[in-house]
Amino acid sequence: MTEYVSIDSLKGVGPKKKLAYEKMGIKTTEDLINYFPDSYIDYRNPQRLGQIGESEKVFTSGTVILLKPMSRRGYKRSLRVLIADGSDRLEVIFFNSSYLQKIIRTGRKYYFYGKVTEYNGRLNMVNPTIIEEDSVRKEIVPVYRTVKGISQSEMRKNIDILISQMSAEEYLPEDVVQRNGLCPPQFMLRNIHFPQNRECFKIAMYRKIYEELFIMQLGMEAMKRPQDGGIVMKGSVKGYIDILPFELTDAQKKVLKDIEKDMESGRSMNRLVQGDVGSGKTAVAAAAMYKAVKSGYQAVMMAPTEILAKQHFASLKRLFGASGIKTCILTGGMKTSERKKVLKDIGEGKADVIIGTHALIQDDVVYDKLGLVITDEQHRFGVNQRIKLGEKGMSPHILVMTATPIPRTLAVILYGELSMSVIDALPGGRKKIITREIREDMRTEMYLSLKEEFSNGRQTYAVTPLIEESESLENVRSTETLYEELKKLYGDTVSMAVVHGAMKQAEKDSIMERFSNGEISLLIATSVIEVGIDVPNSTVMVIENAERFGLAQLHQLRGRVGRGTHQSYCYLVNRGTGDVAKKRMEIMCESSDGFYISEKDLELRGPGEIFGVRQHGLPDECIVDAIKHVDILESAQRDAAEFSGKVGTKVYEKMINMFDGNMSIGL
Ligand code: ADP
Ligand code: MG
Repeated sequence: MTEYVSIDSLKGVGPKKKLAYEKMGIKTTEDLINYFPDSYIDYRNPQRLGQIGESEKVFTSGTVILLKPMSRRGYKRSLRVLIADGSDRLEVIFFNSSYLQKIIRTGRKYYFYGKVTEYNGRLNMVNPTIIEEDSVRKEIVPVYRTVKGISQSEMRKNIDILISQMSAEEYLPEDVVQRNGLCPPQFMLRNIHFPQNRECFKIAMYRKIYEELFIMQLGMEAMKRPQDGGIVMKGSVKGYIDILPFELTDAQKKVLKDIEKDMESGRSMNRLVQGDVGSGKTAVAAAAMYKAVKSGYQAVMMAPTEILAKQHFASLKRLFGASGIKTCILTGGMKTSERKKVLKDIGEGKADVIIGTHALIQDDVVYDKLGLVITDEQHRFGVNQRIKLGEKGMSPHILVMTATPIPRTLAVILYGELSMSVIDALPGGRKKIITREIREDMRTEMYLSLKEEFSNGRQTYAVTPLIEESESLENVRSTETLYEELKKLYGDTVSMAVVHGAMKQAEKDSIMERFSNGEISLLIATSVIEVGIDVPNSTVMVIENAERFGLAQLHQLRGRVGRGTHQSYCYLVNRGTGDVAKKRMEIMCESSDGFYISEKDLELRGPGEIFGVRQHGLPDECIVDAIKHVDILESAQRDAAEFSGKVGTKVYEKMINMFDGNMSIGL
């Protein structure tokens, strides 16, 4: 059995090659053996010349009937070779390869692999790989994506050697292998790199996919916290319901019931609450916090940005104030003295509800009795954070709120057995947001029509993709140019301000505050206002260059309006010409259902872009695989639940590797 070792312990790999391999992400022999081919060449069946058309990759053969060095200026060292096979002829051109003249012989048969293009109405093969007849191996040969300094033949040779030397030992549990009919690991690697035939390749890939999904699901299992030992919280939320200025919707009540049940059960809550923008997640989260406090514990709410944290702080303080609950905020931007004071309050249990950003579970925050952690809007809560809390001797209930609806298929994959509640209806009295696509020629008219909103005392947003004009992105509006333009259009009749991500926090905050107060009527912004901002008086959302935003993002942005009782509008200024942009506008205009929109987004863009690797800490390919192979996923999920904690070190290492030692997946 070979242990995997650093790549430079391979014969022929010195410091230079080591660097080249590292560029390909290959550091160890294990990385190399798991570096899979980009494509394959089927050397078993050369194409007949008569069947060839223009193509990226063609493998063919023919007898050389004419050899002609090219004499044109600039082509001195090039060679034209005419080949034939009885069905047709083909001209093969080798640039800068005069040495071949001494090697290629007229009348001999060769094999060629390369690109075929049309030139002056005739097909040409340019600079192909040429192989002599007796050295062609009738095999399927892998082609790897390599960098300069690493050749295909070297890759093949090294991988071939490593596979022959690898341990033949099975590392997956025997039962798993049996019930899924998996091939042995060595067979898998051999037939992924050097497939014997199509059948063997399929069998090998099946194991590979199963293995990936199984290991991914083991990771999910490992992240689930022990079920028992949760804090029992029996405090009543009645007092909270009484002080709420509105009645909870049935959907909110239902979700709150799920949450209360978890908190009372004696098992740790681990729940994801999904609710479309404006569905009233905060009110539900606040109820959970109220319950925790009434049960004698502290509750924490983490928001993704300081603006949001402050907004939550303001509304929760207002809400909880009358009930004697002490609410405080802790953010990165605080003065040291202020921060110290808050930390002290938290440590002494004087603070009941603590709002902030991720800084809240940093090392220097010591809680008196932390019982509930809530994260709002896409904020990640990962294994690392959980471990950190565990190290502090805490295992609070955990609640994650998200407005990015996760398509059902993906939710199963990402969250497995995790409890999930959906707030599936909006508070009553809301009118459907009227959404329209605006073409360039209607734009000014649309902006002029906003005057009516302003004179009725309403407020509006205009979002652009850029902060300032970019030379490389023509036709894309910036907050800067839009401000100038609208200043001309409205004169001094409308109070406007710009807010974007590059501004200082204090500046952003003060503008947001003035918008909240109604001092500013039109807020020109980048997508910094995407998440969570709640100003019920705003009724119009204009999105410039809407073609540059994804569906999920458009939906989020639109969710900033329609939060009050006034009829609201969303105008999508589309300067795109592509089909995808067109489709997106159509979907936005016809639907306001976040789930539907996210499924469409998934279809239009593929999951990678939406649920980027970074966001979920999961390898992209896994997610793609999982969606394509839901049936394999299901058995992998079942098996992982059964074998969690019972796999050998090798599988465990693979798992750690897959999550890069940092398993922070959404929850
Ligand atoms: P979300 O975070 O889900 O996007 P919020 O919690 O910010 O939504 O709520 C959106 C708006 O709806 C807020 O202004 C909130 O006060 C209000 N709201 C929440 N629940 C209700 C309800 N049951 N009835 C009326 N208004 C509600
Ligand atoms: Mg919210």
